[in-house]
Amino acid sequence: MTTNEYYLNDVWKKTLTKLKETHEINDNVFNLYFSVAKLRSLEDGIALVIVPHLIHLSILKDKTKLIEDCLHETVGQKTILCLRVEEEKEELQNYSNSLWDELAISRKIDPSYNFGNFVIGRSNAQAQVAASTVAENLGLIYNPLFIYGNSGLGKTHLLNAIGNRVRQLFPNKRIGFVSGLDFVEGVCKATTTKKLDDFKKSFHDLDLLLVDDIQFIAGKEKTHEVFFSVFNDLVNNYKQVCLTADRVPSDIHGLEDRIISRFNQGLNVNIEAPEYETSINILKMKISNNIETNMVDDEVLNYIATNFSTDVRSLEGAVNRLLFYSINFSDEDRITLKTAMEAFKGQVKETKNELTINVIRKCVCDYYGLTKQQIISATRTKNIATARHIAMYLCRKLIDAPYKDIGNEFGKRDHSTVISACDRVEKLLKSDSLYVKVINEIEGRIK
Ligand code: ADP
Ligand code: MG
Repeated sequence: MTTNEYYLNDVWKKTLTKLKETHEINDNVFNLYFSVAKLRSLEDGIALVIVPHLIHLSILKDKTKLIEDCLHETVGQKTILCLRVEEEKEELQNYSNSLWDELAISRKIDPSYNFGNFVIGRSNAQAQVAASTVAENLGLIYNPLFIYGNSGLGKTHLLNAIGNRVRQLFPNKRIGFVSGLDFVEGVCKATTTKKLDDFKKSFHDLDLLLVDDIQFIAGKEKTHEVFFSVFNDLVNNYKQVCLTADRVPSDIHGLEDRIISRFNQGLNVNIEAPEYETSINILKMKISNNIETNMVDDEVLNYIATNFSTDVRSLEGAVNRLLFYSINFSDEDRITLKTAMEAFKGQVKETKNELTINVIRKCVCDYYGLTKQQIISATRTKNIATARHIAMYLCRKLIDAPYKDIGNEFGKRDHSTVISACDRVEKLLKSDSLYVKVINEIEGRIK
């Protein structure tokens, strides 16, 4: 039994005990209908309970409010009950057909990637909200949904989370999950075996198509043609398409304009590298899957977040390394900064203390709660402009970066703009003590 199954069993057992203690259900009814139900998942306040037959479903449904109250008491959080009949389990399988099997293009939706274990922060909130909205309003809103960002930031996780949420909410919907690379190979094999028309048609019945890493179809003319037709067929019929890529559609070289324009018709959302607070929350969650988080000193979290937050995969790798080292090679009861520094000896050298314009810009963004897009934009909103000026000034002060380079990294601004931003900050530093305090604080964080 996995930890999750164990947890669900435990929650359900406690809930049943509470239900019984209410004395609102006759003992016979309880034994016959309630005790055979099972809690299949508990995610984002939605409890999916599976029962053997329709009769069970109607009896439990009558007591929805009572069950929800008992679940609420058990887990300490308001919970919505979702009931399903066991037979429908078969239909929860991924969509597949003999042709897809033959071409080996179908990917399995990974149940361990869901919204419940996706940590939300400024860097990924837009993508998370868009993904869950799409899952709950399939085909009706943001179609296609296009999630883009660098590697290791959670795109595949969110795609799976959409699939899992749809399975949970609409078990009869047909979900296809493929990768861009598999699609290319599928087209190639189907062409060779003269089954291209069947291949195109095989997507027709889907309610949701998830395509991971669509950038791999770039430069493949034949694949473009097939994909364009599959895509239009689905979207024009209000069937949902969700895609991920490592960059925004217009930056994918070799992707036909007509496809780029179709992608831009829905909603494009970006995932950025996790900011400091999100990195800390991700670390806490990943650590809590293995040991009690209070076994790890805050300085350790700070150390890892500062050195490994280029992407979430690196944070995960760092947690693994930390736990591996502390379990096998450390005599201390707790995980201290000393243990962490030993664990990462030789690994953080390259990034540590290496200040760049990007690092400074990111620290200032974190301080003001802004995204990279906002700070480099043309916006002159006071808060954003102040952050931009301070970041430019600190790039001069701390690393003596050339004005031209700073301008380039801040939305391709002219070097004279950077000079006047720095002058402005210097003037304010002489007259405004609050300003001095803010800049000292940001500098402290950067260092
Ligand atoms: P991508 O597809 O963008 O390269 P993945 O979705 O494969 O990245 O994510 C890499 C790893 O990081 C996965 O194990 C994923 O679960 C984890 N991850 C990414 N973002 C988050 C997040 N916000 N919360 C929790 N785990 C995350
Ligand atoms: Mg991926």
